[in-house]
Amino acid sequence: MHSDRFAFSLPPDTPRVIHCSPVFVLSFDQAREVVVAKAKSHCRPRPTVSLPISDALGHILAEEIRTDREYPPFNRSTRDGYAVHSIEAQPTSPLRCVGEIKAGDTVHAPLANGACVQIMTGAALPPGADAVVMIEFTRRAGDQVFFERPTESGQNFVPRGSEARRLDVALSPGLRLGFAELAVAAQVGHSTLQCHKKPRVAILSTGDEIVSVTETPGPFHIRNSNSFSLAAQVQLAGGSPVLLGNALDRVDDLSSKIEQGLGEEILVLSGGVSMGKYDLVESVLKGMGAEFYFDAVAIRPGKPVVFGRCHNTLIFGLPGNPVSTMVTCQLLVVPAIDIHSGASPRPVPFLETTLSEAVKEKSGLTHFLPALLTWRDSRSRVRVLGWQGSGDIAAMTQSNCFVVVPADRPDIPAGERVSVLPRTDVL
Ligand code: AMP
Ligand code: MG
Repeated sequence: MHSDRFAFSLPPDTPRVIHCSPVFVLSFDQAREVVVAKAKSHCRPRPTVSLPISDALGHILAEEIRTDREYPPFNRSTRDGYAVHSIEAQPTSPLRCVGEIKAGDTVHAPLANGACVQIMTGAALPPGADAVVMIEFTRRAGDQVFFERPTESGQNFVPRGSEARRLDVALSPGLRLGFAELAVAAQVGHSTLQCHKKPRVAILSTGDEIVSVTETPGPFHIRNSNSFSLAAQVQLAGGSPVLLGNALDRVDDLSSKIEQGLGEEILVLSGGVSMGKYDLVESVLKGMGAEFYFDAVAIRPGKPVVFGRCHNTLIFGLPGNPVSTMVTCQLLVVPAIDIHSGASPRPVPFLETTLSEAVKEKSGLTHFLPALLTWRDSRSRVRVLGWQGSGDIAAMTQSNCFVVVPADRPDIPAGERVSVLPRTDVL
């Protein structure tokens, strides 16, 4: 039987490791499933905001956008050349060039028999023309145009309405607005877009040794870097970070700062979730009425990560070692932000590539190792960087991805294919 403090029912074969208190170790896939399921049931309808296109990047669309007309709105040439009746534009006989059409020109007159018109990329074909011959495959002598190759009907133009019909759905609610989506909005004439408001994500660092970046640390103090990496990750994920500073490893300070965080939909804590005597986050949260869905995931770095809910707030307690904080945020917090942004959770963007130097890790945990993906001669390869473990953020700045070492395949020779988790901020 699982402890009743775990409100999420886990699969019966979920491994369970007993430390000083019961800990449920989920695989990384299980943990993500739990996050997605819980975030979906926790998420309320999103408020919306009207944004100019230029401010909407990364927001989730809250309305349906339909096309205002056909796309393309005319038969659009995709080449510089000659608009022709294809049947006439053959190597056997030349055609007479009777004019020129450039992009933006108004075109009414039908193409006469035996004639062709010089046309530019983006211009409208004259009525009747059913092909464009690339200028490279023609020869001009006065007004006579000779064709080097047979011409086929339909070549080198995009027919009117073939990309979209009038009133087709161009963009659907729930879509993440990237550069292509913003271009489509502009194309169909929407200068403002109704978007979901970004979810506010409270960020609270914990630890007696932590000082603020503006303070001078004592010899055994550490500046708070996690709040800033987390805020950046939250922003990249489409959330709006709310920085709550640092709480000391004391019940009173933790309680009052967590209380502030409970005013937001999502609270992310760093530190204080391991097995140490002063790792109080979980017990303080429990005392404040939290329920937990898991409190360990079989990954390294990041194993002691905690996920639960306190009143109306989803809580993530991430381990404090900076690289652990980064990895667990990317793997587990991002899907919750996706859902609270009004979107479907993005897939984990695993890529496959070739490992250039062998790796050997302990089995039983899925490892995420800072690594450098490079690209040469149309092939990518990846090399794990030397690092001092999950506190080593200096090594992280040399990386652009993590090599994923599966729990059941810890020993991987050079030349093997491996999964890579890109750092979506730099790659
Ligand atoms: P903890 O998870 O609280 O045991 O912390 C593990 C390690 O991470 C310790 O070495 C801490 O000093 C370090 N750490 C914890 N919080 C932060 C933070 N906000 N910024 C930088 N390092 C931190
Ligand atoms: Mg600590």
